[in-house]
Amino acid sequence: MSFREENVCPNCFSKEIVFNLPPEGLKCGCCNWKGFSLKIIRKKIDYREKEKICHDCGTNEGDIHYRGCDMERCPFCGGQLISCSCCYKQLGYEYNWNKEYCGLPEEIYKNGLSEKDQNIWESILVKKGRIPYILFPNICAMCGVLWPIMFHSKKWKEITYPYFHNDMLCQSCFTILENNKNYKNKKANFCDYCGILNPITDSELKESIVNYIEPLKRERLICNDCCQHIFNRINEFMEI
Ligand SMILES: [Zn+2]
Ligand SMILES: [Zn+2]
Ligand SMILES: [Zn+2]
Ligand SMILES: [Zn+2]
Ligand SMILES: [Zn+2]
Repeated sequence: MSFREENVCPNCFSKEIVFNLPPEGLKCGCCNWKGFSLKIIRKKIDYREKEKICHDCGTNEGDIHYRGCDMERCPFCGGQLISCSCCYKQLGYEYNWNKEYCGLPEEIYKNGLSEKDQNIWESILVKKGRIPYILFPNICAMCGVLWPIMFHSKKWKEITYPYFHNDMLCQSCFTILENNKNYKNKKANFCDYCGILNPITDSELKESIVNYIEPLKRERLICNDCCQHIFNRINEFMEI
């Protein structure tokens, strides 16, 4: 079982918080508490069973995004599919930021791909395999809690080791580091999908789904149960 963090009213634990009352502050919609700092609680969550729907195109987890969705990843570079330049390169055009019209024919630079090129690009994409929607949660790199509440600290870089700088930490883990200079500043070993610590993993199982994971996240550790779950979700929508 995994846990996620939530901000709630410190008085009645309700989530109905109203922001930005004058003068700046918070108010609880349930008990009328007013103040500035919320309580962080941890709730059990079955992340695999949580409903996940792309907030841009409404597609279900495991399915392909509607074409044009800004959340779809490019299977070639891992960037945002609607804005990367792979279509030009895959169609054999030169693409170079330093050149006039980025090295493209003026017509394409100004009006986009022709219908014919667009159709070829679509079939190149299908052949390569479009990347379905799979939602990896934010995870505290030390304790594995999902969706840690974000916070700001000017001491972030001073307190944490460099390998944490691109990660997230929950406030309690950050406080531990802040208060214990000698604390082992160590990343936990967890499933990047459900957050469980020291997961059991099997490389063959991972191999069965790796091509459906966005390229920049393929190295992530995924536990066997989550591999199986992702495999089943994808299998509902396409033939593997
Ligand atoms: Zn309240
Ligand atoms: Zn989408
Ligand atoms: Zn790309
Ligand atoms: Zn933590
Ligand atoms: Zn997992």
